[in-house]
Amino acid sequence: MDEKHTVVVATGNAHKLAEIEAILGAAPAMAGMRFVALGDLGDFADPVEDGETFTANALIKARAALDETGLAMAVADDSGLVVDALDGAPGIFSARWAGSHGDDAANNQKMLREMAGIPDAERTARFHSSVVLVTRDEDGEEVLVGEGDCEGTIAHDLRGTNGFGYDPLFELVDVPGKRMAELEPAEKNAISHRRRALDDLVGKLV
Ligand code: IMP
Repeated sequence: MDEKHTVVVATGNAHKLAEIEAILGAAPAMAGMRFVALGDLGDFADPVEDGETFTANALIKARAALDETGLAMAVADDSGLVVDALDGAPGIFSARWAGSHGDDAANNQKMLREMAGIPDAERTARFHSSVVLVTRDEDGEEVLVGEGDCEGTIAHDLRGTNGFGYDPLFELVDVPGKRMAELEPAEKNAISHRRRALDDLVGKLV
């Protein structure tokens, strides 16, 4: 492996790897770099994500990937749903809000319960993504952070079968009347919080 030209991506999600590779890989500053999923480099335990912000948790994942692989460059992201009427919940706890990690159906049912009786005007929410690029060399560590939001409202029922997580509940501001789960993957990727965070990060690369 050409270690100098390898970026480890701390995700187990093949779609995220492809998205990160397509967007970051197109940046001139990343010319010649190869993106490899952490899981393809070994069998590493997930780090404890005990940060208090999306960015802190993304940094925990990126730094763990560098520690585990000894490589010099890592990318990681952390994302979730921020609901105004719930004081920002579920936020960094989005994946495990209803108890077990990644139980989307239970999370969505909990959201419907928590939002019952809340009027439409107060159902505003956004998906947030923080993407970090951490580079280490003999002088230390450089951290670049990209952040992105996708605005919407929490609907009163589930609709749509695409995407994952809270997508069937998330009515988009950018595409009125449509849920995130009703978008084709390419449509979602064009406007998603992750897309915007990656674009933000690319803008900071020199
Ligand atoms: P992750 O950081 O991308 O793994 O996302 C954490 C959790 O946030 C997921 O398990 C989902 O519950 C929620 N989430 C993040 N991004 C999305 C999205 O694009 N659609 C729906 N839910 C999302």
